[in-house]
Amino acid sequence: MRILVVEDEEKMAGLIRRGLREEGMAVDVAARGEDALWMAGSTEFDAIVLDLMLPGIDGFETCRRLREDGVWAPVLMLTARDAVADRVAGLDHGADDYLVKPFSFAELLARLRALVRRGAAERPAVLEAGGLRLDPATHRVSRDGTEISLSAKEFALLEVFMRHAGEAVSRFELLEHAWDYDYENRSNVVDVYVRYLREKVDRPFGTDTIETVRGVGYRLREEP
Ligand code: CA
Repeated sequence: MRILVVEDEEKMAGLIRRGLREEGMAVDVAARGEDALWMAGSTEFDAIVLDLMLPGIDGFETCRRLREDGVWAPVLMLTARDAVADRVAGLDHGADDYLVKPFSFAELLARLRALVRRGAAERPAVLEAGGLRLDPATHRVSRDGTEISLSAKEFALLEVFMRHAGEAVSRFELLEHAWDYDYENRSNVVDVYVRYLREKVDRPFGTDTIETVRGVGYRLREEP
């Protein structure tokens, strides 16, 4: 297992490196976010331990750019600030987990193992498909930079489409992912909401991103 540790405090970085090496892991250290970006871009790390407080670009920005660059190695964020807002922002910038300093080394190891088990599948914090951009954290949707205002249910439905871009999604799947058990099932509710959605994400732009798939349901085109 090869781990990248991004931490500017030499003592802390050295401590983590030594501990991980004792566990048989290969460890590289970057003291700056900028260094982490090129290192992670040229080597496939199994996980990245990322401190939030860094000189130059901070941990949030580093994480965001890693994902933007297509680096999907699991990121464990370290934060000295025991602030909920920091942890929320870190996770929303694409981090997978966090540890608040000071932490126990056993916990760092356990979290790293759990993250590596999950693997490095693509999991963008912001979804892009069909010319649309959807940010689950800020609940914003846009097309070509134009903000689109959606109701909570329309947003939920679009998110399901975007997570399955290019695939035919059945009415049942859409119901299952965007409505809960409290919802009293009406068979045409999906069609009604798809109509609302088309009125907002397609019609004003002259696009036709949400296609009807006969006998199945609907599909969001990957390309606009
Ligand atoms: Ca630091």
